[in-house]
Amino acid sequence: MINTAEVWGILETVSDPEIPVLSIVDLGVVREVIATEDKVMVHITPTYSGCPAMNMIEMEIRGALLEKGINNDVKLVLSPAWTTDWMSEKGKQKLKAYGIAPPQDDDISIDTLFGKPDQIECPHCNSKKTELISQFGSTACKALYRCKDCLEPFDYFKCLR
Ligand SMILES: [Zn+2]
Repeated sequence: MINTAEVWGILETVSDPEIPVLSIVDLGVVREVIATEDKVMVHITPTYSGCPAMNMIEMEIRGALLEKGINNDVKLVLSPAWTTDWMSEKGKQKLKAYGIAPPQDDDISIDTLFGKPDQIECPHCNSKKTELISQFGSTACKALYRCKDCLEPFDYFKCLR
């Protein structure tokens, strides 16, 4: 029987292709690890639908586990849909340290993003005086903001739920 704790440990070393500082475990992409006699089944849920990174993530998971001699299958689970709530606190801290404003809880909904987005905290100086520059940052999952205090542009990882 394969030790699932070991599998989780290996999965923690697989990083998100778009945000290399985040592991797929930090992101909340890995939903379940199920061990059977001779292999392990990893359930993953894509972040943003149609994110082309998912194929790459699947291949990386398979490769990382095979490298340790663990036979595996990766299953894509589309329901329930991934939300930014699944991102771990550790993941959010890492995002911020990387210069990307983490998704903010509570009252910012997807509607707000297309209406009056404000109060996104600058990851550089923590100012809330920021403005939206573009709905789409370096990838569709992010929006581009600029801080009015330190004048630095930054990506905001959009909330999704
Ligand atoms: Zn700032």
